[in-house]
Amino acid sequence: MKRFAAALLAALMTVGLCGCSWQTESPDEAREVIQVIAMDTVMIFTTYGEKSTHADYLSEDEVRRLESLLSRTDGESVICQLNSAGGLGIDVGEEVCGLMEAAEEYTLATEGAFDITIAPVVAAWGFTEKENRVPSQKELDELLTLVGPEHITLAGDAAALTPGTQIDLGGIAKGYASDRIAEILKENSIPRATISLGGNVLAWGDRPDGTPWRVGIQDPQDPNNANAFAGMLHLTDAFAVTSGGYQRFFEADGKTYHHIIDPATGYPADSGLTSVTVVADCDLDEVDGTPSVGTMCDALSTALFVMGEEKALDFWRSGKYDFDLVLVTEDSRVVVTDGIADEFEESKESGYSYEVVS
Ligand code: AMP
Ligand code: MG
Repeated sequence: MKRFAAALLAALMTVGLCGCSWQTESPDEAREVIQVIAMDTVMIFTTYGEKSTHADYLSEDEVRRLESLLSRTDGESVICQLNSAGGLGIDVGEEVCGLMEAAEEYTLATEGAFDITIAPVVAAWGFTEKENRVPSQKELDELLTLVGPEHITLAGDAAALTPGTQIDLGGIAKGYASDRIAEILKENSIPRATISLGGNVLAWGDRPDGTPWRVGIQDPQDPNNANAFAGMLHLTDAFAVTSGGYQRFFEADGKTYHHIIDPATGYPADSGLTSVTVVADCDLDEVDGTPSVGTMCDALSTALFVMGEEKALDFWRSGKYDFDLVLVTEDSRVVVTDGIADEFEESKESGYSYEVVS
């Protein structure tokens, strides 16, 4: 655990979806910055106002609570207990049930592109225990019979899985954590903040000078360069969540295998996209203790990465959920949906071509 006082930082971060750069700010407002390492992610909470310190540390406590509740590897977690229950029903509590219900909604809405029962397949590729390998087609075919929402039964606060089925909330947990942090910011009357959970960013309020927060979209072609952006979003009261194959991957036999699995094939999604950023307004009325907009953005960014450009845009056009998109493609295009076009800034000399779609 690391906590850094704001005084150590001389300039304001431009929050990056996996990267950051620097700019100046007026120093006349109380501000606290802490760095937290949780959920396998470096998180940075930058919070303003009288209760900024209190809100940051409450947020840290909250992500640690959620990590121990939802972890796939900590044997004490409710999720590990459910995964090893051998088909028996166990009491997972109201909160986990609510999250599993939300996950199921997104599974149905995305026709299975987002599916938390993908867990055994993610594990077979070695992403859970960080011992990567390429599973055989036979192994994948057998594991895929355990994947699907029909293998989960929810009743009250209890859940049961088909024997062999396991769940992995890694595609939704940080989004849910950002919803809970939004609740903390609201309860503590925080006027402005940026909450960065790796690829999940909450831009709360606006900057001290009244302009929107600047949220960089990491260039997937240059993932280790924190200053390489495929574009910049100018956001006020919004979530921006990015999924990308570049965020976690391994190489074997000259091929690259990443961590977002297409439940239709059992293989890492190969949809022609290198990243998907889902952007949606953070409506204060919806910050009410339930899985909300941050959770939605997280589930959808994973799902739309699996779906690919055409299906992702069809899904956006369907209007079922209220969000906008920035898609980065393998053939070096950046596709921006028109609802966010005015808030999107192209990265000059990035080599990308830019398109706005409606
Ligand atoms: P994200 O970074 O939010 O896109 O989530 C990726 C993580 O979600 C992976 O590391 C896995 O733990 C899990 N995951 C992988 N593929 C899927 C999928 N198709 N649906 C749901 N979760 C997935
Ligand atoms: Mg996700």
